[in-house]
Amino acid sequence: MIENKIIDGRAFALQLRERVANQVSRLRLEKNIIPGLAVILVGEDPASEVYVRSKGKQTTEAGMKSLEHKLSDTISEKDLLSLIIKLNKDTEVNGILVQLPLPKHINEEKVLATISPEKDVDGFHILNVGRLWTGSNSLVPCTPFGCFLLLKDQLGDLSGKRAVIIGRSNIVGKPMAALLLSESCTVTIAHSKTIDLENRCKEADILIAAVGKPLMVKASWIKPGATVIDVGINRIPAPERGIGKTRLVGDVDFENGQNIAGAITPVPGGVGPMTIACLLRNTLIATFRQFRLDAPDI
Ligand code: NAD
Repeated sequence: MIENKIIDGRAFALQLRERVANQVSRLRLEKNIIPGLAVILVGEDPASEVYVRSKGKQTTEAGMKSLEHKLSDTISEKDLLSLIIKLNKDTEVNGILVQLPLPKHINEEKVLATISPEKDVDGFHILNVGRLWTGSNSLVPCTPFGCFLLLKDQLGDLSGKRAVIIGRSNIVGKPMAALLLSESCTVTIAHSKTIDLENRCKEADILIAAVGKPLMVKASWIKPGATVIDVGINRIPAPERGIGKTRLVGDVDFENGQNIAGAITPVPGGVGPMTIACLLRNTLIATFRQFRLDAPDI
């Protein structure tokens, strides 16, 4: 029998943040260490400002120090790199995150490569990417790691399961594939050039959509009983809520899909809240490693 469960990412993320906060207070009491997370925001993109604000709030709530650097979008690449180098050396800073996207005149690759891999809590540094794919201790990108935790919680052993990931970005799709491969899933990465996407999706025990196209994955593409993780965040018009109103939807037709999937994440309230919770977790793990302490398994 298919269970049709809605995965509550908000509740899971809250529990994770509580576990992080407990470890932070242990660090403070036993070692007099307070983890610090520096977030750099360049320019005034409203969506990025919202993210940075909630990152700061949740960092403080977890008992960590939040250090925000808001920079003008006219800042030169050289000055931004100098700030990162300064933060790399700052012993009060254990995690560094540069909010993406960056203005066009700044080379994103160069910026990510300048962050110390040990403080790279977004897991985008090439050394952490390599570590992830080769199975050594890395800092793992927050959104795919959040999806991974939800899947493990839902399914337990993932070994042998057929996973289809739609999307091949460095931020979501590719690290997601590495994580599922490390758990012995049989992984397919689908993308904009994939032929017969519908039938690839129908084969999936685990279906992960990370595209950015509203409701692209139809309910009929879901294998009955599959676990569906919807990473997409899309704002669409919602005239039923009033003139000019909008609402958030994922990449998957949740309304109909929930009757077919064994378990499915909603949007909002699924993967979204997991991203910041995993960022806090990464900052905690990075701090433990920088002090040569055994990192907790949380
Ligand atoms: P991206 O634009 O970098 O990548 C999108 C991917 O989708 C590409 O690899 C592309 O090949 C694939 N794609 C495009 N059209 C396709 C099609 N018709 N069929 C199959 N594949 C297609 O996006 P991203 O940064 O990976 O983000 C994807 C989505 O996830 C976005 O909606 C983004 O807002 C969301 N997101 C959410 C979180 C979160 O915290 N929940 C974090 C990151 C991204």
